[in-house]
Amino acid sequence: MMYERRLPKNALAITFDDGYRNWYEYAFPILKKYSVHATMFIATDFVFKKNPLWVDRLEYAIGLENDDIESKINRDAEIRAQLKKVGSIERERHLAAIERSSSAEFRNFEMERAVYTPLTNTDIEAMKNSGITFGAHTKSHPILSTLSAQETEVEVRDSVIALKEVTHNISETFA
Ligand SMILES: [Zn+2]
Repeated sequence: MMYERRLPKNALAITFDDGYRNWYEYAFPILKKYSVHATMFIATDFVFKKNPLWVDRLEYAIGLENDDIESKINRDAEIRAQLKKVGSIERERHLAAIERSSSAEFRNFEMERAVYTPLTNTDIEAMKNSGITFGAHTKSHPILSTLSAQETEVEVRDSVIALKEVTHNISETFA
C-alpha cells in the first residue's frame, strides 16, 4: 500500500532493527496474537554469519571487568560514543584491545549469554509465514557516515544480497 501511495488515515509502520533472537521470543508472539504486520531490518553478518554486533562485544567485555556496575555503565557509554566516531578498522583495533584486557573474546553465541544471540533461519521462516517483512540493515552495523563511499556501498549492497538469498522478497526500504 505504501508503494501505491494509498495509505489509510492514521496508518503506521512498525519496524524493528538488528535481528536479535529475544525479539522472536518476546515481541513476535504479541504481533502474531494481534495479527500485526511489521518489518524487521536485519544486520546480515550478525544474523547469517553469527558475527556479534560490535556494541555487544563492547558491553560483554566491559561487563567482565572488575568494577562496580555504575562505573561499567559509564565506561561502556563513553567508549561507545568514541567508537561511533571512528572507522571500522580503528574500531576493531580498539575493541580487540579491550577484549584482550578483560579476557572477553566473544565469538561463539552458543557459549555466551542468550541476550546477544541472533535469529535463526527457522525463526525467519516462521516470521515470513506470519506477516513479517524483511529489510536490510547493513552487514556489520557500522555508522555509515564514518565509512568511505566504497565501504558504504559494500555494507549496503551486500546486506541486500545476503538478505534476498534467505528471504527472497525484501522491503524496498533500508534502515
Ligand atoms: Zn540497528
